[in-house]
Order: sequence, then C-alpha cells, then structure tokens
Amino acid sequence: MITLKKIFFMSLIILLLSGCTETKVDYYSNISHQGKNYVSIQYPITTNQTLNEHIKTYIDEHYQRFLNYSKTAKEKEFNTSAEYNLINKRYEMVLLTTFNTASSMAHPSTSVKSFVFDKKTNSLLSLKDILTEKGIEQVSESLKQNLKETYQNCLFENRLNSFLDEEIQDYSNFTFDDSTLVLYFNPYLLTSGNCGIVNSTFKLDTLSLKINIEKEVFEENTILLKSKEKSIDPNKPVIAFTFDDGPSKYTDDILNEFNKYQGSATFFVIGNKLDSYKNTLQEMVKLGNEIGNHSYNHQWMSRMSEEELTDQINKTQEKITKITGTTPTRIRPTYGALNKRIKETSKLEIALWNVDPKDWKYKNSKTIAERILRNAEDQSIILLHDTHKRSVDAVKIVLKELDKQGYQFVTLGELEEVKLLRKNET
Ligand code: ZN
Repeated sequence: MITLKKIFFMSLIILLLSGCTETKVDYYSNISHQGKNYVSIQYPITTNQTLNEHIKTYIDEHYQRFLNYSKTAKEKEFNTSAEYNLINKRYEMVLLTTFNTASSMAHPSTSVKSFVFDKKTNSLLSLKDILTEKGIEQVSESLKQNLKETYQNCLFENRLNSFLDEEIQDYSNFTFDDSTLVLYFNPYLLTSGNCGIVNSTFKLDTLSLKINIEKEVFEENTILLKSKEKSIDPNKPVIAFTFDDGPSKYTDDILNEFNKYQGSATFFVIGNKLDSYKNTLQEMVKLGNEIGNHSYNHQWMSRMSEEELTDQINKTQEKITKITGTTPTRIRPTYGALNKRIKETSKLEIALWNVDPKDWKYKNSKTIAERILRNAEDQSIILLHDTHKRSVDAVKIVLKELDKQGYQFVTLGELEEVKLLRKNET
C-alpha cells in the first residue's frame, strides 16, 4: 500500500511540475540574408493539416508578392512574426504578422492575420461562433467607441458603419485567451494607412459568449531557478557556443548534449516563440546555460527607431523574466547587424561572435562541424542556430572532439569570468 501511495504521490508531483502551462508547437524557420536582403520567415506547424495549409498559403502569397515588387530594390526585408496559443486544450490561436520593406517602396507595409481553430469541431471560427447576438452587439458598441477615441485621425467612419452592419458576424481576424478578446484590422480596412495595424481589446467577462472558456492558471516564476553547480578551470581552454533564433524542437537535444560534458552554452532567443517553450527555457537555466535577447520577432534591428527597438527588447526581457525568473544581460542584434542606435538604446551588453560556420547556409552537419573545428581555439565564440537539425548533429560531432582536446564549454558570462581570472593571475 505504501508503495502505491508513493507512486500516486509521485505522479501527482510530476503532473504538477509538467503543468498545463506549456503548449509546445513546432516552428518553421527560415532566417537568412544576402547582402542587404533580409528574410525571416517563421510560423508554427500545428498538429492540424487544414490549419497548416491556411498558414502556409497566407505566408507564401505575401512572400511571393514581396518578391515581385522588390525585384529591383537594393535593400529589402521580409519578416513574419507568429504567435501561437492553445486555449482550454481546444482552441488553437495563430496570429501572423508580416512586415516588409524595400528601398523601392515609399513606406514599409504590414499586415496581420489570425486563425482560430476549434479542434473539437475541426473548423475555423468567426466571431458569430464564439459570441451570441447580444455579444456581437456588445462588441460593436465598444468597438465603435474605442476606434473613435483612439483613431479619430485616420478612421473611415462610413466604412466602420457598414462593417458593423454587414460584416462583423463573419469577421475572423481575432484571437482570444482565457480573459480577453482582441480584434485586428489591417490598414485600409477601417482606417487610413498611417495608423498601421489597428487592434481593439475586450474583456471576455463583459461579453455574452456562446462558448465556455475556463480560466487557466499560469504561475509566474518569481523564484530564481537553481542553476547547476559547475567548476571551470581557468587554466584549461574554454569555448563559448552561442545559439540564435530559438527555441525550437531541437533545443532540448542541444541542452542534453552540453550537459553530457558538464558544459553549457548561451541561447539568444526570440520573444514571440517563448510561450511555446516555457519548459525548455526553464531547463536552460537549471542546467546552467545563459539566456540572451535576440529581439521579439527577428525584424532587422538596424532599421528600427529607438521606440521600436525598446519595445522589441523589453517585450522579450519581460517574457524571459516571467518564465525563468532571470533577466538577460546580453543582446545579439538580428542578423548580427549593429549600429549606433542599437548601441545607444540598448542597456544590454552587445554580444557578437568570432567563429561563424554559417550553419544557415551549409546544409550538411559534417561541413558545419569541420568549419567549427578548423577555426575554434581557446576563448572562441561560436555562432550557431538551434533551429536546424544539421546544427544539432554538428554540435554532437564537435563537442565530442573538443572535449577530447580538453576544452570546457562555457556561457558568455563564464567566458568573461575566466578572462578576468587569467588577467588577475598574470
Ligand atoms: Zn538571428
């Protein structure tokens, strides 16, 4: 009996620990640049084929359009930002934002599209599927008031009236969580282009709903996760591996690999993916790795205003702190492109690298491994991406070899400590 009780107790603990707070989803990721042509396409790959096709079609159409009109542009950027959420284990939310700019265009252009998928009925939802008639009226009324107050300079009032009369029931550009409903409007739908994407938020408990949404509990991590104890010998060679653009489904594998050698690495993560990888992020900290900031949605930071930069950095910092209890001290600018404004705006330390095996370009793990081994030496900082299977495979080859050669795998913070210790010794 005692054993049974123990087993029950243990499984309860495991259930509590694993929680229902993380909704792991796989991401498609294609981040690359050639000269001043910057491309960052990222979107979730859900378990539902229909939803995946909708997402892919939407992104492909936008990318194709961008390629067509930016053909002659010398400087251009295409970026997609994606947020994924699963509410009450039933409603899958995908919010896609595309941003593109080309030196041939007068202004950057941006658009937003959401998909709300009901796993139970296997269908995409519009507002009339979640709100009663009364609920639609409530939303209409506050929307009208809200837009008039906030967007008075750019609102097309006649357009808004016909939208509320004829289209709102079937409107599908919205997301919700367990407490709020957000409606998104692309430029030129209800407002002129200068207001950009317009959104309006409503509290769910003030609306008459057709569906039942239960509150989900997410406990913030206010306690510092205990990091694994490590001993580093400053007299032996050290090497700092850094991984950009994650987390992804490969990150756990990389964490395990470093842990095998009692080593760790630094991960420059992208803010909008973090909710899908809460456990991975906490594991990162527990195993003694360092987390750095790599923007919120991987837009090219060099072209951002001070305000946009601050927003990108802070949103990501807040998410990391909320999930892990630790706050990054380092930032790596997207595409490694650094300018004066980034240096001045960011209070974080800028972290670049000195060995680039170009794992986004070379598709073979052996080639990537060889490129690392050829250039790695004491105090090297290696740039990799934990978004490719080939990079994980290269890490396995490289760690095994470098471990044989006596290297210790350290975070950027530890690398600095080692440098300081060595300096003080001489
Ligand atoms: Zn990157």
